[in-house]
Amino acid sequence: MIANCDAHEERGAAFSVLDCLPVGVCVVAASGIIHHANPALHELLGCEPGGLPGRSLCEFGLECCEAGTPVADPARAQRAFRNDGSSRWVTVAEAALTRPRPGMEAGYEVEGLRLVTVTDVDSLRRQGVIVDEGAAQSELPVADTLLEHGGTRGYKVPDRLAQGATRSANLTRAAFRDGSDEPAGILGSLREPGDPQPNHERLEAILEQSPIGVSVSRRDDGRIIFVNTRFAELIGLPREKLIGSRARDYYLDSHQRLRVLDGLRDGGGVTNMEVQFKRADGSPFWTLFTVNQAVIQGTAVNLAWIYDYTERRSMEEALRDMASRDPLTGIYNRRSFMDMARAQLARAHRFHEPLSVFVLDVDHFKRINDTFGHATGDDALRMVAAGCQAILREYDILGRLGGEEFVVVLPGATADESRVVAERVRRHLARMPIEAPDGTFRLTASIGIAGLEGATDTLERAIHRADLALYRAKHLGRNRVAVFEPGM
Ligand code: GH3
Ligand code: MG
Ligand code: MG
Repeated sequence: MIANCDAHEERGAAFSVLDCLPVGVCVVAASGIIHHANPALHELLGCEPGGLPGRSLCEFGLECCEAGTPVADPARAQRAFRNDGSSRWVTVAEAALTRPRPGMEAGYEVEGLRLVTVTDVDSLRRQGVIVDEGAAQSELPVADTLLEHGGTRGYKVPDRLAQGATRSANLTRAAFRDGSDEPAGILGSLREPGDPQPNHERLEAILEQSPIGVSVSRRDDGRIIFVNTRFAELIGLPREKLIGSRARDYYLDSHQRLRVLDGLRDGGGVTNMEVQFKRADGSPFWTLFTVNQAVIQGTAVNLAWIYDYTERRSMEEALRDMASRDPLTGIYNRRSFMDMARAQLARAHRFHEPLSVFVLDVDHFKRINDTFGHATGDDALRMVAAGCQAILREYDILGRLGGEEFVVVLPGATADESRVVAERVRRHLARMPIEAPDGTFRLTASIGIAGLEGATDTLERAIHRADLALYRAKHLGRNRVAVFEPGM
């Protein structure tokens, strides 16, 4: 049982060597059922990854799926009917799966399994390209080398076109090994020949139409040798002026440039890095910057793409700002207050510095709403926020906890020092006239204060103690400041 398991695993591992081959390959049992199929075959037959094992090649209209059928002629294409109903021309070849025995000429068959190779020849077939079988003979020495040393070899082979003309196609052959690392065979894939040379003019025409700014600069001296119209627009200079200038002159921030250079080290590139460039008039703009290295007509170049990101970035900043602010008063909302206050608290702990918190609640606010209306109540809340801000120091953080309750973190201040600030706030608010539909009115507020207690104190606990002090201030008659004391 255990031995069986091992054998199964070993075979699984052996078959997984097929997974990186560029042609469709599967291992088929005598029953015609697929045991293992590589990703290329899944893709060729339009199946989800892992969808082929358990099925039969007959389902796709492929011929060689019954035991005993002759090995298919590789030059004779047949149609594979894919999962999505479309069809492709393929060639199918099969061989008994054998394990060569050291020192013996013939291999022996493993459990009646067969290795079936399905090669996509659709585009070749449609263009009338036929493999020249004679070429296979001249490649025998290559096959021997591959079997001996493994690896992959790609080379051109002559093909005969349907009309009698010949041209060359790309043949890739790869050796694969079985579970005991013995050479097991060679697979080949034939690919349609590409364009003989990339067409330089066509490349320029494509780059020219790109809505993204494109520049090509020489790697040796950094001089720009091509820009498209969009790039010239973004920089605000005519193309003639840009050609010959140095790419480095358009960076705004030398640190960002060093990060780009870092990415380009060892043949690498950068993708969608946020980089700021400057226009001819000196004004900055944000870009998503992508650079790749290439060789164009024998010259090593950087191919750079700049996507103007300024508008989106300022929109993102506005959205971020909106998400962190209380819409009524414009001060920080509870969540962002807590985030920032927590960062200050961690700093205070780290540097053993004092920090205190105060909680402010408007007195009898309900009455203000009831007397002057909700809109005036809103105005009063805006005035309270502005009134606090006018007294607080720049690095104090003010937030709205909710309703008519505000909270302040005072980095560097002990509870006693905070009391002085809180008194000033209280007096300022009490003197502040607030507009109502008929005349002005005044309001008061109560404030509870708590300082940090110990190295493990948390923001939540400090706010809770400030709340207890606030409760005391209310209890003592409102319009006053109370500092937390144990027992409150
Ligand atoms: P106390 O002195 O004990 O704090 O009394 P209070 O009336 O201020 O306290 P209470 O909690 O009873 O009432 C708070 C009121 O604040 C009730 C609620 O309708 C009002 N309120 C909460 N949020 C807003 C707001 O955004 N705008 C306005 N206009 N009123 C609000
Ligand atoms: Mg209140
Ligand atoms: Mg309240």
